Amino acid sequence: MINNISEDGIIPSSLPKGDFMKVKCQSCSKMIDRNTAYKVTMGKVNKYYCNENEYADIQSAKKIKDNTYEKIFECFNRKITNSVLFKEINELEQVYGYIKITDYIEENMDYLSSVLINKSFSSEYAQIRYFTAILKNSLADYSVETKKHEKPVILDIPEVKYKAVKKKRSLDEIEQEVGEML
Ligand SMILES: [Zn+2]
Repeated sequence: MINNISEDGIIPSSLPKGDFMKVKCQSCSKMIDRNTAYKVTMGKVNKYYCNENEYADIQSAKKIKDNTYEKIFECFNRKITNSVLFKEINELEQVYGYIKITDYIEENMDYLSSVLINKSFSSEYAQIRYFTAILKNSLADYSVETKKHEKPVILDIPEVKYKAVKKKRSLDEIEQEVGEML
């Protein structure tokens, strides 16, 4: 048995090459035969997966997550790097999943962005907490329409478009709800 294989699946050159070469699957961490593994070359590094499906699943999960954050940044009209956002969204994701979160944000983009712009916050932290409180408050009762499932996830967003504020009607109402939560 040869166990001295590095984490990234690179075999020391002194070792003979043969069909015993094992690499670690980047998806499920299983040790797999390098000759039959699905290989993805990223720059100078090869990544191995049990099969193409495992790789595709990882990629599509990553794209769904990226898409959610694109929408969130669109609401804020800027990129957020504050870790509290990621922590809060992770918690919501465990319950609702990224697709539902994204659908809700897309449907309520005008409202969400108007709240974030019109209301004054003492800090970015407070603004993020306010935003995630709205999500928490709304997602439980939000159901994704059937047609939404048929809509492909839009992955390439060429530019962040900022939409004009339209919906102010329910603002006071929801602000009141969120205010009570905080
Ligand atoms: Zn695997």
